[in-house]
Amino acid sequence: MYCLKLADRIYLIGGMAYGYSAQGDCNMYLIDGGGELALIDTGGGDGVSRVLSNIRNMGLDPSSLKVAIDTHCHYDHIGGNKEIKELTGCEIAAHVAEKEEIETLGELSLYEMAGDRGLSFEPTNVDILLDGGERLSIGDLELEIIHNPGHTPGGISIKLKGGDATNLFSGDIASAQGNLNFINGPGFDLPEWKLSIKKLLELKPDRLFPGHGTFLLSGAVDDLILLDQKMNAPWINIVTSVG
Ligand SMILES: [Zn+2]
Ligand SMILES: [Zn+2]
Repeated sequence: MYCLKLADRIYLIGGMAYGYSAQGDCNMYLIDGGGELALIDTGGGDGVSRVLSNIRNMGLDPSSLKVAIDTHCHYDHIGGNKEIKELTGCEIAAHVAEKEEIETLGELSLYEMAGDRGLSFEPTNVDILLDGGERLSIGDLELEIIHNPGHTPGGISIKLKGGDATNLFSGDIASAQGNLNFINGPGFDLPEWKLSIKKLLELKPDRLFPGHGTFLLSGAVDDLILLDQKMNAPWINIVTSVG
């Protein structure tokens, strides 16, 4: 088993949680547009060769990777940028507000934390600057970019319509079961985060593919409703990190 087919055209291709690549990697998803591929996040830097061999083992050519989209600037989502770009020729896409953090491994990237965890990597330039609202063509598919500040200022989610279902790749702004994860990092903004969840709720996603933890293959909007409730509970203002 080299990848996990999650839905039509959508695969889990890397991530430490499922043993598909390396320690330090967030969940990485591959979108197959037919002739062109897109990767959601590039992990913590140590898993690139395994991700590329996972793609090859699917019978796909890594050089058809058109773009790797960073959902946000945290090290566990951008660490593979340089190596993946060099090995496949893909472009790196990220929100304009995080261009500098990604290119310089600034404070918001948490690169020091990466070092504490034994990871090291070099940055590379962001080629495609996003602002939210863009539509990226990947083969015959269209990815819609949604700006979701809160976890970091330039966090984005990616929406993909597939048949009757709405798929949402949410990075760290929303995870399954209403889990809140890491909410007090540098650059986090609770009021913005709450608004971002409401924005995602309106999309009524069926499937949720988050940066960490489990994914949801149906009924994802219910998990976002739970997350919205947790986000607006009175105790949210006094806790800093809860599961
Ligand atoms: Zn994060
Ligand atoms: Zn993360």
